[in-house]
Amino acid sequence: MSNIRVRFAPSPTGGLHLGGVRTVLFNYLFAKKYGGRFILRIEDTDQSRLVHGAEAYIFDCLKWCGLEPDESPMHGGPFVPYRQSERKELYLQYAEKLVKEGNAYYAFDTPEELEQIRAAIPNFQYNKHYRKAHGLRNSLSLEEASVNKLLAENAPYVIRIKIPAEDFVITCPDMIRGDVAFDSAQIDDKVLLKADGMPTYHLAVVVDDYLMKISHVFRGEEWLPSAPVHILLWQYLFGLDKMPLWAHLPLILKPDGNGKLSKRDGDRLGFPVYAMDWKDPKTNEITRGFKELGFLPEAFINLLAVLGWNDGTAQEIFSKAELIEKFSIEKVHKGGAKFDFEKAKWFNHEWIKRSGVERLRSDVEDVFRQKGIRITESGKLDTVIALVKDRCILLQDFYVQGQFFFVPPSSFDEASVKPKWDESKKGFFEVLAGIYAEGKNWSVEEIERLFKDLATEKNIKTGELQMIFRVMLVGAKIGPGVFIIAETIGKEETVKRIRTALLVFG
Ligand code: GLU
Repeated sequence: MSNIRVRFAPSPTGGLHLGGVRTVLFNYLFAKKYGGRFILRIEDTDQSRLVHGAEAYIFDCLKWCGLEPDESPMHGGPFVPYRQSERKELYLQYAEKLVKEGNAYYAFDTPEELEQIRAAIPNFQYNKHYRKAHGLRNSLSLEEASVNKLLAENAPYVIRIKIPAEDFVITCPDMIRGDVAFDSAQIDDKVLLKADGMPTYHLAVVVDDYLMKISHVFRGEEWLPSAPVHILLWQYLFGLDKMPLWAHLPLILKPDGNGKLSKRDGDRLGFPVYAMDWKDPKTNEITRGFKELGFLPEAFINLLAVLGWNDGTAQEIFSKAELIEKFSIEKVHKGGAKFDFEKAKWFNHEWIKRSGVERLRSDVEDVFRQKGIRITESGKLDTVIALVKDRCILLQDFYVQGQFFFVPPSSFDEASVKPKWDESKKGFFEVLAGIYAEGKNWSVEEIERLFKDLATEKNIKTGELQMIFRVMLVGAKIGPGVFIIAETIGKEETVKRIRTALLVFG
């Protein structure tokens, strides 16, 4: 079995940004390509940021995208629990090992004390310059006896990493960026274990990547500044030879390329940024998602895959199976990828066109159901899907393009008909309704033949007649061939619609 183990490690704090889904996707593709395991770990150690429902929402998004993990709090696995809050007891021993070996220290400063220092010293950082001064109370500044006394009294403390006093370079070997160098002088003594006994992200992520035998870390570029702290922790706790290989994925940028795409950009520019609708439980505000807007998951993962990756050819449409086969980390770009919503819709349109009726059936049925149309004839639904799918960019377009097959028009585009309407056309449709009512063979060829023969007999050009016929059946100048529409809705319905329209047009 492959030793490849990758993980997606979200904090359940809200909706899942498309950048997060792309991180999931690259993890997933890499795991599947090399026969490895894809792990979902919930990083919920910052209890103050937890949002109710966010974890379940992440599961739902992964399920919808078809990117389900092999191991997770829901799926279980050999390294349970996969929720960090349930692993709380585990982290203390590692924090203490760091203290014992001189790589971390206890800090007893209260939040109020720190606040005072921050107010007094602009740009204060808890680091090698300040940790032994300004009255900071920690196991580096205090006498051993005082430290032991405070510990014996159960005084609240945090554990901080001790960045060495001598400046040095920390190198992050990154599969996408090559070696990225960090100056240790820029790093502060980050808290590793909080006063409530919970680890911070930095300690928990390293300990769990180790314990869960993670071989490769694919995460967003926004985590690159944390990498030097993680590398030091790897060095101190487990040895650099055990460290996973890193890959910091390029950012997904605003359409104009100016900075990281945020939820606010989506709101401002009118497109979704989250995978699925997200309802903030505090404000009840709903943020729209790609799913509910009518994207197919195949299209969604395809468009995300090519945001920052391509296979070196001009190919743009990839199925999941092809992505698994072709994905390679060497072809992931360093630079950020601009998000283009029009292009995203193009992917969806392509996927709808390429999808068979079978694939689309239940999604289209849902679209109709949401609009109050219950489909009873499944054969007819299949015909309609096949007829209109090339015209649909989003799944919702099936309603606009297909509802008239199931319900008669509630209004007619009279503005288009009126200028062309006269007694001869009225007469034409009166006779046509009668002929159709008598018709024996309701096939598209026969419907068209009867229509054209009558037009010839009455000496009226068929172009305008066909436009009017369409408005009669559909209500508007949209849809596939008008004779196909007539065939699909059936003889009785066609005759009924002509007669209703005749009453309206007068
Ligand atoms: N918990 C971090 C997040 O919320 C994970 C970052 C990482 O993958 O190391 O994205």
